[in-house]
Amino acid sequence: MTGRYPDAVDVVIVGSGPAGSAYARILSEQAPSATIAMLEAGPTVSDPPGAHVKNIADPDALARAQRRSEGPGAGAAAVSSPGAVKAGERRARPGTFLLDDGYAQPGEDGLPVAAFSSNVGGMSAHWTAACPRPGDSERIGFLDDEGVLDELLAEGDRLLGVTADAFDAAPFSGLVRERLAAVVDAGRPEERRVQRMPLAVHRRDDGRLAWSGSDVVLGDVTRANPGFALHDESLVTRVLLADGVASGVEVRDRRDGSTHAIAARHVVVAADALRTPQVLWASGIRPAALGRYLNDQAQIVFASRLRDVSGASEESGDGALSETSGVSWVPFTEELPFHGQIMQWDTSPIPIADDDPIVPGSIVGLGLFCAKDLQASDRVAFDAATLDAFGMPAMRIHYTLTDADRAVIGRAKDEIVRLGRAVGEPLDARPFVMPLGASLHYQGTVRMGAEDDGASVCDPCSEVWDAPGVFVAGNGVIPTATACNPTLTSVALAVRGARRIAERLA
Ligand SMILES: Cc1cc2nc3c(=O)[nH]c(=O)nc-3n(C[C@H](O)[C@H](O)[C@H](O)COP(=O)(O)OP(=O)(O)OC[C@H]3O[C@@H](n4cnc5c(N)ncnc54)[C@H](O)[C@@H]3O)c2cc1C
Repeated sequence: MTGRYPDAVDVVIVGSGPAGSAYARILSEQAPSATIAMLEAGPTVSDPPGAHVKNIADPDALARAQRRSEGPGAGAAAVSSPGAVKAGERRARPGTFLLDDGYAQPGEDGLPVAAFSSNVGGMSAHWTAACPRPGDSERIGFLDDEGVLDELLAEGDRLLGVTADAFDAAPFSGLVRERLAAVVDAGRPEERRVQRMPLAVHRRDDGRLAWSGSDVVLGDVTRANPGFALHDESLVTRVLLADGVASGVEVRDRRDGSTHAIAARHVVVAADALRTPQVLWASGIRPAALGRYLNDQAQIVFASRLRDVSGASEESGDGALSETSGVSWVPFTEELPFHGQIMQWDTSPIPIADDDPIVPGSIVGLGLFCAKDLQASDRVAFDAATLDAFGMPAMRIHYTLTDADRAVIGRAKDEIVRLGRAVGEPLDARPFVMPLGASLHYQGTVRMGAEDDGASVCDPCSEVWDAPGVFVAGNGVIPTATACNPTLTSVALAVRGARRIAERLA
């Protein structure tokens, strides 16, 4: 042991979000004698470690857990309700923090609200848990042979605890889907029609909803694994290489500032799509595609009020998604290249007259996410001369929308109004385009490729081309421009990488 860390393990996992946790879970199942150290820069904020903070019943304890996840941004004013989000200010969502600088370069669009979470569980302690499957060009062609991708996605569903029925008792969900389907479904194959949103949520025996976080991905098998240990407040500053092959990591204990080395033949960097390339870059692992093909999903929002519905009025106060609300999905297709996430609310994002009580579930928030036109020049770069709040090389984001992106956003604005009118009476005068980065779905920075052609960082099992034993995980691995929420896909890709390590350790 050095400090609180082991001298050597079989596998080090950097980051405790759902992608890193998927490695720990599969290894616990398939290589039960392997020793695994999971190193997480942030603190443990929930119990079991990695649990979604929405499962914390006490509102003060929940708010504390969110603040403790916000790293250097803790305590900054946050936006929570859709109305506030639509103000377009540079503010983070609860549980996340923004870059102080480097989020845009002169003359570029940048990602003004690129956000991070630093806590055990990462962003999955704060997420909405939507887990749709990618379709059409969102899919990874070279993994589509013989159903490989679908089998991995099914494993992703298992690890994340995805269900489609948690909101079945929500009022008017069927009606919302019926009205959307009437204007969307014609000509679509069944799996791309309007449907319930698959969610990583289940209903507990006492009837309350339980949101999946990394705790669910880790599962009892990992928690009971004597070879597995989670070390929080532990920042990995570098991956160590010996003759170009993974040999371990350097870790800084954030409790006392001491630095330690842990030897390992397998290192999985699952530190989110912006910090995974940061760790590789700081380690001198710099393939040409590192940090490039960065893509965020431009997000357009709009709100409508269901017409012709009645029910008991109910105050829910804070505009948060409540138990009586439903979530519906309008899948991405080539013809309509947007992913639709349709959420029912009990309160309105904009003021409504006091004598006009809101029927629970009757406010429909529509969100369309657009797939980016990929460019190698969209990238996160690093500045060795400037350190960020964690002491790592500072990020410099280069990001521009293309003419094709602007055309798709224009189409999405028309489409969202059409959908809003189909479900009810629009509450907004016009759709709102969120500041770039608001999707929280950053991809492409450590992308997977079928071959080492300079346009990818890792192979189809997520192992870095030029650094055997170094694996990358998370949304940055996804090589396609998806419009749908990406976590299910990145957990699916992590399953494959973990299987490769398990085979080697067998
Ligand atoms: C409000 C909100 C709503 C969302 N809704 C959805 C949704 O509905 N569907 C969906 O698919 N996605 C959603 N997301 C995004 C989703 O949470 C992320 O896609 C997912 O958590 C990514 O998993 P990950 O493991 O790759 O990274 P993260 O969950 O971001 O975890 C990475 C972890 O790595 C740690 N780390 C970073 N650097 C280091 C280092 N050097 N050393 C040690 N540790 C480090 C970080 O502290 C962090 O805890 C949402 C996110 C938020 C915040």
